[in-house]
Amino acid sequence: MRNRRAALAAIAGAASLALTLSACGQSGEGGSEESKGSAKGGTIGIAMPTKSSERWIADGNNVVKDLESKGYKTKLVFGEDDPDQQVAQIENLITQGVKALIVAAIDNKSLNNVLQQAADAKIPVIAYDRLILGTKNVDYYASFDNSKVGELQANYIVEKLGLAGGKGPFNIELFAGSNDDNNTKYFFNGAMSVLQPYIDSKKLVVQSGQTGLTQVTTLRWDGATAQKRMDDILTKSYSSKKVDAVLSPYDGISIGILSALKSDDYGSKSKPLPVLTGQDAELASVKSIIADEQTMTVYKDTRELAKVASNMVDAALNGKTPETNDTKTYDNGAKVVPAYLLQPVSVDKANYEKVLVDGGYYTADELK
Ligand code: BGC
Repeated sequence: MRNRRAALAAIAGAASLALTLSACGQSGEGGSEESKGSAKGGTIGIAMPTKSSERWIADGNNVVKDLESKGYKTKLVFGEDDPDQQVAQIENLITQGVKALIVAAIDNKSLNNVLQQAADAKIPVIAYDRLILGTKNVDYYASFDNSKVGELQANYIVEKLGLAGGKGPFNIELFAGSNDDNNTKYFFNGAMSVLQPYIDSKKLVVQSGQTGLTQVTTLRWDGATAQKRMDDILTKSYSSKKVDAVLSPYDGISIGILSALKSDDYGSKSKPLPVLTGQDAELASVKSIIADEQTMTVYKDTRELAKVASNMVDAALNGKTPETNDTKTYDNGAKVVPAYLLQPVSVDKANYEKVLVDGGYYTADELK
């Protein structure tokens, strides 16, 4: 078994060689049309899952910006939610001689072979936002407190419905993310840790009967898939009832659920929209919150996550130990991956200006 510490030290040596070469006006890297930024350091490969959701585009851009400010070059690729394409892209990055990899996995279990190639080439790997499972060849994990995301969504529902004050019973439906994303179970279990007692006491009733994680997942986080499921649920279980809350794990899914609700005449005085959660503070969803449709979202500042991941790469390539704040929670089946977890924030109509506009995430104009 390869010694990771020795490998990281070797990479640090290679990185300082690259620095020396570039200081002498030479480059240790071949040119690439994807390469950007200063030629001071080596090139870092960044593999993001898809451009179909704003957050990953922002993540990619922010990581590029942070690494460039530290003197690295970057190659940023998006796998368009196709696990095979992501594997091919990472293989390509390794062949092109990247010094480190930052990977937000599409399918958490499909990367084992390609990460073995990375390990053989002594390339440190940072799992970005989503943990990669079943391999020792992932060095660090940069993410948010994913259980907390689910807790924030569920606590919002509890508060809005007045459940803690004894109100109810209310009808709720549950949605979860993609079953191949390790975050999905953390979000869902976090939410259920809050909701389950109310389901048990029948203050919350899931009329569809679909309460198990495997019954409520949404492949690739696809909004249209969620819309179809919500349509079916409304037809089968709510012909003579109203749904009061929907647990949705992600803004794109919430928008799909909202379409299904509106097609069923929700959104009027006699049939108000249910409390509807979300995640990522995507532009369309923040606008929807302002318009009193989606109720809340969970904001995760991708600028901060990008910084954490870039700092991890920089430390690993310079023989330092990257900063972590959780060395227990994220067991990937092969090892516990040392993690740095950021805090998510609940956002609704009452605080979006303070958090998102004053925080510089969106301008007031963008939200008009
Ligand atoms: C991320 C979420 C995102 C979802 C869909 C998850 O892994 O943590 O922020 O909403 O993927 O892209």
